[in-house]
Amino acid sequence: MILLIDADDTLWENNIYFERVIDHFVVRLNHPHMTHAEVRAAIDEVERANTKLHGYGTESFTRNLREVCTRLAPEAAGDWIAELCRTITEHPIEVIEGVRETLAYLQVRHRLVMFTKGNPAEQFGKIERSGLSALFHETRVVKEKDAASYEAMSAELDQPKDSIWMIGNSPKSDINPALAAGLRAVWIPHDATWVLEHEEVTAAPGRLLTLSRFSELRDWF
Ligand SMILES: [Mg+2]
Repeated sequence: MILLIDADDTLWENNIYFERVIDHFVVRLNHPHMTHAEVRAAIDEVERANTKLHGYGTESFTRNLREVCTRLAPEAAGDWIAELCRTITEHPIEVIEGVRETLAYLQVRHRLVMFTKGNPAEQFGKIERSGLSALFHETRVVKEKDAASYEAMSAELDQPKDSIWMIGNSPKSDINPALAAGLRAVWIPHDATWVLEHEEVTAAPGRLLTLSRFSELRDWF
């Protein structure tokens, strides 16, 4: 089998750092009329519009928070936003429990391809710091994980589609587009999945497996 494996919030913690920064940002912004939830909704709206233009990653996120600040409370704008966002790139990588051992088990049985989206420099930096790259046969970073990128990946792998599995936490970029491209998928939900990655999981009898922990992959592959 070929196992395509997502990285952020599948192999290591990621979104919790963004959530922490958003909380600090809203508190620091201290908007006179808007509630925490309303400011949060404004952030989501800006992110939804901008990821199409500028892609994913901390640089885009910093730009988004600056934009929200300029819109909602221009007098509060300052370097503090960039400083706050720097905490995201500076924290050590926290590999999710059971991941390393499970990859070591799978590596000798299947072809493992890390398949992640985002800013290439930032993603490759995380891969390096995670110490997991030696457990993969290949690593791919793409701008967007949509049905077209799964089609392209599957054409390149040149293997029957039912022997290719996508494993990840995000319905929107791991599960649904992989299923749409005719591949099989393993959904491992993460409590802190980014709101923009939420989506109803497509029904795909016989092609979709839902697990609660990464280490459970050992029971299936
Ligand atoms: Mg993910």
